[in-house]
Amino acid sequence: MEEELEIAIIGGGPAGLSAGIYAARARMKVALFEESTTGGMPAFTERIENYPGFPGGIAGRELVERMREQAESFGLKIHTFNPVRNVKLAEERFLLLTDEGDFKAMALVIATGMSPAKLGIPGEEELLGRGVSYCATCDGAFFKEKEVAVVGGGDAAVEEALYLTRFASKVHIIHRRDRLRASRILQERALANPKIEVLWRRVPVEVAGESKVAAVKLRNLDSNEVEELPVEGIFFYVGNIPNSAPFQEIVRLDEQGYIITDARLETSTKGIFAAGDVRSGNIKQVAVAVGEGVTAALQAQRHVERLKGTEYV
Ligand code: NAP
Repeated sequence: MEEELEIAIIGGGPAGLSAGIYAARARMKVALFEESTTGGMPAFTERIENYPGFPGGIAGRELVERMREQAESFGLKIHTFNPVRNVKLAEERFLLLTDEGDFKAMALVIATGMSPAKLGIPGEEELLGRGVSYCATCDGAFFKEKEVAVVGGGDAAVEEALYLTRFASKVHIIHRRDRLRASRILQERALANPKIEVLWRRVPVEVAGESKVAAVKLRNLDSNEVEELPVEGIFFYVGNIPNSAPFQEIVRLDEQGYIITDARLETSTKGIFAAGDVRSGNIKQVAVAVGEGVTAALQAQRHVERLKGTEYV
């Protein structure tokens, strides 16, 4: 027989853990399902300095670990390494198919976030873990006194390029435009850092190397010529894709695959709420994900109480 829950939370990043803190503290019968113990994308950010309440910043991993500890202190049951593979409707309940068996829930909060996008160029997949990386915080220390490249011009690319200057002798930011997308404070720091050089109006077309990365081939968008940049590491930060695949048959997605909700964060299916980076129109910030997790948990709680006829009106 399936275990019966009132609220099931899917995803263990800031949105899911915040939803968990609220739902567990409201004494709901709630469990959180997550694919790994990482705590979502912020865990791969060395320092988060714009989350309110932490002047001087806090390590991304520490922030999510504190959230987890807080959620568990209220009794949240966390099913780690047990992602939800599929969700089906079952008479005003949702049936969650997981590797550890089936669970039934009266309401769902989907907070599965995003994963790094791949560029899909030759050598990118073949040399993954042998110089190609999507996580500077995880792999940066392997590149002591070496030259590396970072692809992208957004917050993630510039923030991680700055982090890599601790180890690398030189960090080349490869960006397809002639100005960066990243926030001004990060741009100022990067452009003032003598270890960082931005290669404007270039796109990588191939990662070259036999058993490990030796160079990246770049197309110059002005001359259309291909240049070779010798580097031993290349970090891709070219955007993200939403982790919404298991839910595509049960909730409406936008063109990019993000989950569409109304202002109360309810999806096209009554009783299913979405929060954080996986939600269409969401601003990709930890503080926003936290607020959305809270909203989704409170709305899910209201949905459950309505079903049970215990709503306080
Ligand atoms: P992003 O903002 O979407 O930036 C992706 C970058 O990759 C862009 O500069 C984009 O170029 C480039 N790019 C995309 N496709 C490409 C391609 N095919 N070839 C070459 N370049 C390509 O992604 P992100 O930096 O991962 O950030 C995601 C969200 O999280 C953002 O909302 C960001 O603000 C937020 N975030 C915030 C912080 C912070 O507050 N400290 C830290 C990390 C992330 P174009 O600019 O030309 O489009």
